[in-house]
Amino acid sequence: MTWVTDFHPTKDELASCVQCGLCLPHCPTYRLTGRDTASPRGRLMAMSAVASGDLAVDDSFAEIVGYCLQCRACEAVCPSLVPFGRAMEGARAEVAAQVPDAKRRLRHLVVGKLLPTPGLMRVATWGIRLLRALRLDRLLPPWLAKPLSGVRPLDGSAPRRGTIQGEGRLGTAALLAGCVMEPWFAGVQRATVDLLTRAGYRVVVPENQTCCGALAAHDGDVADARRLARRNVEAFAGVDLVVVTAAGCSAHMAEYGHWGGEDLARRSRDVTMVVADLIDRGHLPRLPEDRGPVAVQDPCHLRHAQRETAAPREILRAAGYTTVDVDPSGMCCGAAGIYSLIYPDTSAELGSRKATEVQATGSTLVASANPGCEMQLRQHLPAFYRVAHPVEIYHEALVESESRPRVRG
Ligand code: SF4
Ligand code: SF4
Repeated sequence: MTWVTDFHPTKDELASCVQCGLCLPHCPTYRLTGRDTASPRGRLMAMSAVASGDLAVDDSFAEIVGYCLQCRACEAVCPSLVPFGRAMEGARAEVAAQVPDAKRRLRHLVVGKLLPTPGLMRVATWGIRLLRALRLDRLLPPWLAKPLSGVRPLDGSAPRRGTIQGEGRLGTAALLAGCVMEPWFAGVQRATVDLLTRAGYRVVVPENQTCCGALAAHDGDVADARRLARRNVEAFAGVDLVVVTAAGCSAHMAEYGHWGGEDLARRSRDVTMVVADLIDRGHLPRLPEDRGPVAVQDPCHLRHAQRETAAPREILRAAGYTTVDVDPSGMCCGAAGIYSLIYPDTSAELGSRKATEVQATGSTLVASANPGCEMQLRQHLPAFYRVAHPVEIYHEALVESESRPRVRG
């Protein structure tokens, strides 16, 4: 049997690969294993074999496509412009439809139902807080215990849904509350709303919005990914701009056209691009202070999926920092959404390599524009390192600069 869903990799997508192999040195799983079946080319060949009826969608095909981080480093360097991310989402949809797996069904409950439900996320967050207060962090999984301990996630609250503020000189901007950004990265959400308001937007946080659906889409849960996209299309109708504070989510929403939301895709933007643009146009200030170095880690879904590396650096330089690149080759840190739950060893190996690269920069302040990468870096770096979103770092610098007494000349 070949494909059974309406979301499968298409003939055109697969035919565009000329098997040149230029993507191989950029693929983390190929570099770790040296196996062609763990490379972009090998994965596309496996998909083509299914399309031609020479290979079944079975456990081994599930492993070939499941081991991929969906980092899209291959897509960014491919001379034939193979839309690898889209083809891989199609292949994962087929695996979900054809290969029974109890663990995947459980994951789909988490990514399709738990994460998009704020009430359930609040309960989960209170559970984490309680375990921490009782000093029972060891009961939390390692990928959750250390990255969220002692730093600022879970502290304070995000702007409330239903918030409307600002004068609207620049139009109306809506904030995507997201699934983990609202409860775990409240500081980034607050900084974003404050900066947009200062710049001149009327800022809204629509009540009936939901998770963008990226994690569901990446795991082949097409029904939930479509349902979540439909709800956001309704929730964000009529606003000029939808500002997205997680690079994984902004990459997914930029491709909402695959999920029935072409118009919303055009109006959605990663917060780093929005803030860099506001600074560039003079709606937000460049600060005069020299604040020293900051190491910049590029999330794959900003660097490879959206081809954006300038915006985080422009924001950090405007805050007064000197930016230091962590890894010019842009290798994935191994977070990759829920990948660490499925392939913990590969995720840990890539996380520890990334931490070594961060340490080589000499900076203990690290900027990353994606929550999964932030959590991964915190897990693998010593506790005295601080990892934060570039927009949060800029906002803190702005508030601190404003509070300094001015010396009159
Ligand atoms: S995906 Fe692109 S770079 Fe990789 S083998 Fe195919 S054509 Fe070459
Ligand atoms: S998305 Fe990343 S892990 Fe997957 S094949 Fe491409 S480079 Fe390799």
